[in-house]
Amino acid sequence: MHGTDRRPEAIPAFAGSRIDRVDHVRTNPDLLAASFADPAARLLLLDGLEPVERDGHLVLEPLAPDARVDDHVLLGIDPAERPIFARLVTDLGPGLLPTARSRSIADLVPADEVALYGTARSLVHWHARHRFCSVCGAGTVPVKAGWSRKCGDCGAEHFPRTDPVVIMLAEHRGRVLMGRQHGWPEGRYSALAGFVEPGETIEEAVAREMFEEAGVLVHSVRYVMSQPWPFPSSLMIACIAQADDDTLTLDATEIDHAFWCDAQGVRAALAEEEGAPFIAPPPMAVARHLLAHWLADVAPADASA
Ligand SMILES: [Zn+2]
Repeated sequence: MHGTDRRPEAIPAFAGSRIDRVDHVRTNPDLLAASFADPAARLLLLDGLEPVERDGHLVLEPLAPDARVDDHVLLGIDPAERPIFARLVTDLGPGLLPTARSRSIADLVPADEVALYGTARSLVHWHARHRFCSVCGAGTVPVKAGWSRKCGDCGAEHFPRTDPVVIMLAEHRGRVLMGRQHGWPEGRYSALAGFVEPGETIEEAVAREMFEEAGVLVHSVRYVMSQPWPFPSSLMIACIAQADDDTLTLDATEIDHAFWCDAQGVRAALAEEEGAPFIAPPPMAVARHLLAHWLADVAPADASA
């Protein structure tokens, strides 16, 4: 419902997809061939894993006459009824971390296009890094329009990863815990975060990470929102939890500094006021939306977000 909303403060980056994922086409070779042959079909142009933008939109091109469907992933059907494909590549270039260019796309094109780029980026990356079977080591090939890979030897099927990450605020008597990692820009603080491990619920991961990183025991974990984060394939799960007390025991290897911040300080940081107690995460980050959500909850009368 936010798909056409261009305001970066409306939703976190990479959320807001308006693509119809057409699972029935992926699994039907005739329908897939027809989509690929559709004159309306478009290739989402990528430069390696990087986005390509022109005049405020991602660049979509007609498919090349000699293009093969097997070298492409069908991202889905866009609101203009166009089948949108991305080309699979094996050379990803040097870096996998988010570059300035891949981050800045969130400010340059509409939210649903940012989401389309994120989907393509995660999938193209996954294909390039899963060319061999993790069961027997033989080569794998894309199947289901690029939404899985199949081993040519043992037949095992492998699916694209989505790695859940919890990102959370601990709340204690009207204040929330803000932390910063080593090497972050001076003054930048955010919510603490960590990967969900096998065998854990979201609630258990929130409690474990909060205790490991800050020594804070929490309860009453509440889910707030989520965000696909395609570097390479995380799903950020934003939560708020209640802290038993406000004593901090920081894990110095992970956390540079942390402190409890009241609503006034969070409001000042989000408004980027001079003298604010910290520099808030950018609008593309779900942490900023989590802070705004908390602020609207605890101080609805004067919450600017
Ligand atoms: Zn195999």
